[in-house]
Amino acid sequence: MSDFPKLFIPGPTHVSEDILSILSTPQIGHRTPEISELIEYIINGVKNVLYTENDVYLVSHAATGLWEVGTKNSVKKGVLHAVNGAFSSKWALSSQLSGFNTESVEFEWGSGVDVDKIDKILNSGKYDVFAMVHNETSTGAMSSLETVSSLLKSKYPDIIWLVDAVSSMAGVKIEVDKLGIDFLLSSTQKAWGLPAGFSICSVSDRMLNLSKTIENKGYFFDLHTYKKYFLKNQTPTTPSIPHLFGLKKMLEKIELEGLDNRWKRHKNMAEFTRNWALSHGQTLFTDTNALSYTLTCIKNVKNWNIDKIYEKLLDRGFRMDRGYGKFKGKAFRVPHMGNIYMQDLEQYLDVFNEVIE
Ligand code: PLP
Repeated sequence: MSDFPKLFIPGPTHVSEDILSILSTPQIGHRTPEISELIEYIINGVKNVLYTENDVYLVSHAATGLWEVGTKNSVKKGVLHAVNGAFSSKWALSSQLSGFNTESVEFEWGSGVDVDKIDKILNSGKYDVFAMVHNETSTGAMSSLETVSSLLKSKYPDIIWLVDAVSSMAGVKIEVDKLGIDFLLSSTQKAWGLPAGFSICSVSDRMLNLSKTIENKGYFFDLHTYKKYFLKNQTPTTPSIPHLFGLKKMLEKIELEGLDNRWKRHKNMAEFTRNWALSHGQTLFTDTNALSYTLTCIKNVKNWNIDKIYEKLLDRGFRMDRGYGKFKGKAFRVPHMGNIYMQDLEQYLDVFNEVIE
């Protein structure tokens, strides 16, 4: 057993040994042909995972920074945020604090976003940007991108659509071009199965063109700073080179697994976890029409002593999640993404069973 518990929290997620060892590859210069080759491989791989021809930018900071990249490069009139959990709420706060005309359309925590409510507000014409979180990590609610896409395509084709896919990218099939997502963002510590501190986004041409007409974006968060270096398969600033090696390895693993198998694996693990919870008399915290494929949030109706289970699991080498913020103890989450395969999940839930017995 490793000296460190195996992570069964919904981020950072478990990083497997093969990835960990790749992270210690010797450094290479960030303005060399070697790095351009590496970045080109990664960009092509990510485009493939996202089913897109859009530009893909690699950034060495947390996904939270990409929230602001998204808004700074698109909002002129105002931004409407769908808020259905902790992360979507924080993104709306970041827009308010950036001084944008911001409105939040609120949904019950645990449910997905509802297009009828979004439609009513976008109809006012007050907003040119719509922002949402695809997979609310705080509640395990995954919203339907397809229904939002149909709404925007049919009634609001000029609205710029920003999507946070921090806990779904690389674990759930997201067809960026088909859906028409202008800006999709994620960091690497969830379904990408890499350490935190590195992020990825895809950007549509129309958003890049719009960004050109917006002033005072500064330097670091201006998409055109990224575009300039993207054309050379480089990054504007010195990137986290270990993450680049890790991403290449992960893309090789994804290619070996096959995209369809990967999406299916995440769905199967989600189903397995839901059934496990229900078979123990617990219920699901999340609405049944919004159940995430990458994590399951379980309502602790059986009043299990979560802190005690946490300690016992820790003794056995696993770090469990005890619930996000205000839900601590009342609901807990089981992640099943990235480097977690069915056998890892089965092993974890077997030990969990022993502990609760
Ligand atoms: N969005 C969602 C849905 C998240 O789950 C998280 C982190 O857990 C974030 C954004 C913030 O990501 P980061 O810590 O990389 O800024």
